[in-house]
Amino acid sequence: MEKRIITTDVTEEDFSLEGNLRPQTLDDYIGQEKTKSTLKVYIEAAKQRHDALDHVLFYGPPGLGKTTLSGIIANEMGVHMKVTSGPAIEKPGEMAAILNNLQEGDILFVDIMIGKGAYARSIRLDLPKFTLVGATTRAGLLSAPLRDRFGVMHHLEFYTHEELKTIIIRSAQVLGVEIDEKGAAEIAKRSRGTPRLANRLLKRVRDFAQVKYDGRITYDVACFALNLL
Ligand code: ADP
Repeated sequence: MEKRIITTDVTEEDFSLEGNLRPQTLDDYIGQEKTKSTLKVYIEAAKQRHDALDHVLFYGPPGLGKTTLSGIIANEMGVHMKVTSGPAIEKPGEMAAILNNLQEGDILFVDIMIGKGAYARSIRLDLPKFTLVGATTRAGLLSAPLRDRFGVMHHLEFYTHEELKTIIIRSAQVLGVEIDEKGAAEIAKRSRGTPRLANRLLKRVRDFAQVKYDGRITYDVACFALNLL
């Protein structure tokens, strides 16, 4: 079945696009003020101590910026980030290979998908001190022993229209598309509080602006395009 445009799950197109649109620093990351201000303190403190950041768990619906925040932490800490997912690390040998490549202070980002399967056996590995950043939509379904390992837990919230508007204007700049406030506001209104969806709608509206209008996204262009989606 064809994926609906309004899905907040990641699609193949998002994957290639998101690389460019992802903010790289906390200052560029819009919204989630509480999470941002506490993370700023933890990052600063860890850097002063020349220590790895404590393990972090981000939870909340898809497309709200968990992966993006993880990349920003790595960037602000000046370390590498390795990305993997729950199913991938269940493959034999996969986890060992990932862990083997970690350097002191690195970030390991794991998208934890709740499902089946328990680890049949465990092995002990000598590892550099790294930071595990976990991301899940359902923190409540994690086992208590796993959840308790995270020193920092943040729930990501849906974004306000105003925040989404700012994200859309920023993304339009990155994409090189002209957009006015009202056009951005209209896309923001349809984005269900989710930046991933906002970026996807922006791209579709841009297509209409380019083919049916003069390339600029205004309120009229946005309404026209969004009503057809
Ligand atoms: P998640 O990991 O929660 O599913 P992502 O981090 O992949 O979500 O975010 C999806 C897209 O939304 C990213 O490509 C990014 O461009 C955009 N995005 C998410 N949060 C923000 C934000 N706070 N500011 C700007 N863009 C954001």
